[in-house]
Amino acid sequence: MRKRSAALLAACFLLFGGCTTAHPTPQTKHFTALDTACAVSLYDGENEELLTACVAETARLERLWSRTVYDSDVARVNAAKETTVSEETAALLTRAVSWNAKTDGAFDVTVAPYKDLWMQADGGDTPPSTAELEKAGERVGTDLVTVKDTRVAVPFGTQLDLGGIAKGAVADALTRLLKDGGATSALIDLGGNITAVGRKPDGAAFVIGIEDPRDPSRLIAKVALSDATLSTSGSYERYFEIGGKRYSHILDPKTGRPVENDLLSVTILSASATDADVLSTACFVMGYDRAKALVETLEGIEAVFVLQSGEVVMTDGVQEA
Ligand code: ADP
Ligand code: MG
Repeated sequence: MRKRSAALLAACFLLFGGCTTAHPTPQTKHFTALDTACAVSLYDGENEELLTACVAETARLERLWSRTVYDSDVARVNAAKETTVSEETAALLTRAVSWNAKTDGAFDVTVAPYKDLWMQADGGDTPPSTAELEKAGERVGTDLVTVKDTRVAVPFGTQLDLGGIAKGAVADALTRLLKDGGATSALIDLGGNITAVGRKPDGAAFVIGIEDPRDPSRLIAKVALSDATLSTSGSYERYFEIGGKRYSHILDPKTGRPVENDLLSVTILSASATDADVLSTACFVMGYDRAKALVETLEGIEAVFVLQSGEVVMTDGVQEA
């Protein structure tokens, strides 16, 4: 899968740079985890130990939730079909499963058999055939996943992939760690998904830019963020390239095909980073009308939609800065 990580990193500096006039330079720790560039910044005083603890906590959770770490909880379920996982993994899976129904099937942690077909085709000339996708589809469906206490079971061939929720769950865990460690003003950046812990030291909200999916060096909006996460899903950062055509890395669980609809990107704002991560992925799958209708039913969730037409639509509670 192709990534635009260098540009993404540049954009993050831009975001952080946008805040520097109003408050002191933060102490920042940059690290690579979760297959992306990460950073944690403290704005209310230096604390090297706390930053190191954030890096360690991210690595610990990645070792539980990565599909490619051979003895992670997720990899063990995928290999053994029934196994005991940690309480944290069971809780995250239960939450992921419950979002499937609430998003009308758009969020589905079992899309991996489809994803594998697109990854195999990536860089070649031919996309997966309809027959291959239909065959893979027999192993896809959140209803195939059973979670009972810490016991998780899936049928043979079904594969869990927490790629659409893990970054959010890690951001929530880091937020708890930072607050417990006494931090009152911090930013967490996990591959462009930004969580604000508290406010800037001067009491104002952090100001975070949302990239233009057509030209990520530009911003479509700047929004105020405090004690909340901003999570963006789109096809511009990660994609498959087959026969000269770019395909989104987000798959429609109903068809097994990369999302191709009226949206270029969806940004979700939520007090919960986990919910923001899920909902940006799900809304991108659902398309503008269904996604907007869903967001309007959810308390405390705001969204910024960028349509293929270039139009930018924000829900009423988004505070532009
Ligand atoms: P990013 O990882 O770029 O932040 P997302 O949060 O939207 O993007 O998650 C994309 C990842 O989620 C994919 O790489 C894949 O592992 C997984 N995924 C793809 N489609 C879906 C889907 N419909 N539901 C749940 N997870 C998905
Ligand atoms: Mg997501």
